[in-house]
Amino acid sequence: MVKFLDLEKINARHAQQITKAMAGVLSSGWYLKGKETENFEKAFADFIGTKHAIGCGNGLDALTLILMAYIELGVMKPGDEVIVPANTYIASILAISRTGLKPVLVEPNPDTLQIDDNLIEEKITPKTKAIMIVHLYGQNAYSEKVGQLCEKYNLKLIEDNAQAHGAFFKDKRTGSLGDAAGHSFYPGKNLGALGDAGAITTNDDVLAETVRALGNYGSEKKYVFNMRGINSRIDELQAAILNVKLPALDKDNHRRREIAKTYFQGIKNPYIKLPGVSENLDNVFHIFPVFSPLRDQLQNYLKENGIETIIHYPIPPHQQNCYPEWNNLNFSITEKIHSQELSLPISPVMTDLEAATVVEILNKFKPQF
Ligand SMILES: *Cc1c(COP(=O)(O)O)cnc(C)c1O
Repeated sequence: MVKFLDLEKINARHAQQITKAMAGVLSSGWYLKGKETENFEKAFADFIGTKHAIGCGNGLDALTLILMAYIELGVMKPGDEVIVPANTYIASILAISRTGLKPVLVEPNPDTLQIDDNLIEEKITPKTKAIMIVHLYGQNAYSEKVGQLCEKYNLKLIEDNAQAHGAFFKDKRTGSLGDAAGHSFYPGKNLGALGDAGAITTNDDVLAETVRALGNYGSEKKYVFNMRGINSRIDELQAAILNVKLPALDKDNHRRREIAKTYFQGIKNPYIKLPGVSENLDNVFHIFPVFSPLRDQLQNYLKENGIETIIHYPIPPHQQNCYPEWNNLNFSITEKIHSQELSLPISPVMTDLEAATVVEILNKFKPQF
């Protein structure tokens, strides 16, 4: 049996240190906005390469708080447009619509699976205020062209870095490439907590201050409220756990790249298409997607052979019931990805034998017509 993601095994490597860190929080009597949070925010900002990191409740809130802050600062107003890839996880889009902004969907490049930077400019209107790139599946989505468009049209560049902690564009980490980035530490992400947690990174002092206040009811000074905020903070327990796990992230990502290499070199089957993504440092392989017109049959075959897979994602955002206004739109590249994608097991605790087994079984797949 090859598990898709063995979270117990991932965290067991740190069991002693995590237990100790949790005991430290328990006996401190201090559970929010304390030393662990401060240490994590500093360590994470250093890791990403930004001046600020602000902890918050989860990845969706991280993106929401960035947009709320830009609205608070007068950079955007409800009804303004934010460009976002059509094939992203729903949370990127929810962050935009829940702040009263309008998500404008752009198709991805079918090879890299990232937002197609050739299709962005035609979607820019006088109402466009930002481009939200999503480093989907762990692959950097930034390009110089995206940076130039932001400059040309005076747009904010927001990164959804939930799936790509540790990835690079040239010598800079994703999460440090734009004006602000949202991160998720959901347990299954490359850097995962033991529950929900998130962070915002930015070099912008005013934005950082505003985001921090907005996540704390809109308060900069206790019991004084100059903005209408939310409650979204990282707790000391999750920060303490992330302080234990962050130093292992680069090594973990290296291991993910090794597994990916085994897949790239080994998988040879006419019914399975490999992703056209990078094998270099700009990919941390949060997910290893393969594509097949016989996806559902392939998934069943793998299951029968003891290999667990997941589909990322079965229904594209524009076909979801929560966005009925988009249900009749056509995003053919996105739809094809959603109908053919299958995510293979990949994680830092996968063994060489497990990866080889996945390759061997995939190569024996023959469709039944
Ligand atoms: C996981 C994820 C989020 C949301 O993060 P949560 O912590 O689960 O709220 C946002 N965007 C992307 C691309 C994600 O994968």
